[in-house]
Amino acid sequence: MLPTFSVIVPVYNEIGCLQELYDRLSKVLDSTNESWEIVMVDDGSRDGSTEKILALSAADKRVRPVIFARNFGHQIAVTAGLDYSKGQAVVIIDADLQDPPEVILDLINKWKEDYQVVFAVRAEREGETWFKKITASMFYRLIFRITDVKIPLDTGDFRLLDRSVVNVMNQMRERHRFLRGMSAWIGFKQIGVSYKRASRFAGSTKYPFKKMLMLALNAITSFSYFPLQMATYLGFIAAGLSILAIPVVMIERLAGDQAFIGQATTLIAVLFLGGVQLICLGILGEYIGRVYDEVKGRPLYIVNEKMSGISEKSGE
Ligand code: UDP
Ligand code: MG
Repeated sequence: MLPTFSVIVPVYNEIGCLQELYDRLSKVLDSTNESWEIVMVDDGSRDGSTEKILALSAADKRVRPVIFARNFGHQIAVTAGLDYSKGQAVVIIDADLQDPPEVILDLINKWKEDYQVVFAVRAEREGETWFKKITASMFYRLIFRITDVKIPLDTGDFRLLDRSVVNVMNQMRERHRFLRGMSAWIGFKQIGVSYKRASRFAGSTKYPFKKMLMLALNAITSFSYFPLQMATYLGFIAAGLSILAIPVVMIERLAGDQAFIGQATTLIAVLFLGGVQLICLGILGEYIGRVYDEVKGRPLYIVNEKMSGISEKSGE
């Protein structure tokens, strides 16, 4: 029989959190008196998390392991979780207990009120550096401004998705994924529930600045043409300014002024325009690279079937 609830946990080197996570999650899920499963996606951990997941699964068959062949990244790990989950309502949660499992009950209550996407809004964040808080806040606001889908502010991937939503998400096989954008894009009946984001239970963040930047880039390029349009705007601005400059220079020269003589002015103008052009080319390259990645059509992730054993995808 298919479970009512699925909880997806992406795991990357979280050995210190897993037992506590399982204990708290199973307690919360048991209190619903419904059937459930926890899909633990091991994203190429090297600290023994893999063995721990397999041990948890051996002790409790409701824990279903999906072991990746290598590290594919958080968004891809969650995607695999969506592919493998079978529940009527699917919850995505981090392994580090920053998203308190108890909040799942609030999400479930909204789901019972027939909402199909219930996202958790971070009203407060605990135990994170000011740098992370500021960059995260800027990130959410930038995405909100320049993308076409209105992704709710201050929401991460901690959310509940109804089976109907998961089925649609599973059809979207794009490679550079920004799941919260995708789940906002598909519509359906959505609502937010606010919660207090705790600090990490153990270990350190697996999202260094570089990965956050990549996620931001994926979010922007997947949901907006703004960077491409910027080249056009810059072109118009530069062309406009230079047209305005022509009469100014002519009048100054006729008046006998010796301004704008020499190589420095020319050099600066050339270097400036060259720089702007290279930046625009880079932006173009960013999009073309993504098209190239899609065209190759490689699988999004590779599962180590032998180790994952009992786990199979929802359609199978
Ligand atoms: N994670 C993952 N693959 C990665 C990086 C992170 O599966 O390459 C998982 C990680 O184990 C955690 C979740 O994604 O369960 C969120 O990561 P983290 O807590 O480090 O991010 P932060 O909360 O600091 O933004
Ligand atoms: Mg975290």
